[in-house]
Amino acid sequence: MNQIYLDGHSTTPLAPEALEAMTPWWHAQTGNPHSPHFRGMLASQAVESARAELAELISADSQELVFTSGATEANNIAIRGTAFAALESGFDRRRIIVSAIEHKSVLASAASLKGLGFQVVEAPVTRQGLVDLERLAGLIDDQTLMVSVMAVNNEVGSIQPIARVVELARAAGALVHVDAAQAVGKLPLGFTDFDLASISSHKVYGPMGIGALFISSASSLRPLPVQFGGGQESGLRPGTVPTPLVVGFGVAARVARERLIVDCAHAAGLAASLLDELRLLQTKFLENVPETIRVPGSISIRFPGQNAMSIIGRAGHRLAISEGSACNSGQINESHVLSAMGYTTQEASETVRIYCSRFNTQHEVIEAARILSESIRD
Ligand code: PMP
Repeated sequence: MNQIYLDGHSTTPLAPEALEAMTPWWHAQTGNPHSPHFRGMLASQAVESARAELAELISADSQELVFTSGATEANNIAIRGTAFAALESGFDRRRIIVSAIEHKSVLASAASLKGLGFQVVEAPVTRQGLVDLERLAGLIDDQTLMVSVMAVNNEVGSIQPIARVVELARAAGALVHVDAAQAVGKLPLGFTDFDLASISSHKVYGPMGIGALFISSASSLRPLPVQFGGGQESGLRPGTVPTPLVVGFGVAARVARERLIVDCAHAAGLAASLLDELRLLQTKFLENVPETIRVPGSISIRFPGQNAMSIIGRAGHRLAISEGSACNSGQINESHVLSAMGYTTQEASETVRIYCSRFNTQHEVIEAARILSESIRD
């Protein structure tokens, strides 16, 4: 199938270097990294060198990283685990602030704490998809336990003003959690100023099913585990650490670090070419997020008067992109991101989401623009 894949916000293709490095760990080098024998020791060494690669990518210390099954689990531990730690340690702050455009795993984790006496407040965003700093400042008070704002939004690609969010939170003594799933490997981003941050391997050309939670060694409150078992990952995330996935993640992190500048320039160039071609073809579209504040390679556009689902349907097997409305478990729901940005249901239904990745070519994006243009009906 020769489908052009431009849905890198959903998942990125596996880097060949990661695939190659993972292969022996599925069979020839099988070993549980927690086993005391030689094979176990080799697996454990591989896990630790992957951890070091990931730490280097985000300018952190290896000991500040806990492997999880992905960013969803990292978000759950960061938010629920921190709330449990506050309850247990008698730390009496009970307000959790999340931006209105966070991933569902952040929003739902925070909402799950309401029954335990926590107050969850959503910080509004602007029409361009940026957290409204003035309104955020008004929400943060001396009761605020945590502020959780994503680095890059997964539906519209907007880059959040994280440095300012950190300043505001710090001034009130609140912890900062950053869902960095869509930023790592796509933007230069050091984690030194965060208390907690979530990473997903399959958004950075690594395998699915693995991710990590960064927990700053300088943070004043360490999350408690949200599940229990054999004590792996310092007891914070029990369960056998999946050596092949971690090895693939580590290599993907190394490649992402080495290629960061090249990848960013490539992705930005492709996105610009796709939009230029649409203009050349006189296809009417509007950009939801201006180029200056979106992650390189990301495009969120709407075709006025058109239905994105129908366009995607007509593009069919030739083009893989997403509609603006989030599709959760096969069900189409209105996107909470676009609606928080102030878009009407109609505008949201006109929106498509694209991400041009490392492996896309100039030829593919030009072809994609032509397919899109052809798929639009007057
Ligand atoms: N946060 C963001 C911003 C995401 O884009 C995603 C994936 N769509 C997640 C969290 C969940 O990541 P994972 O698939 O690794 O659980």
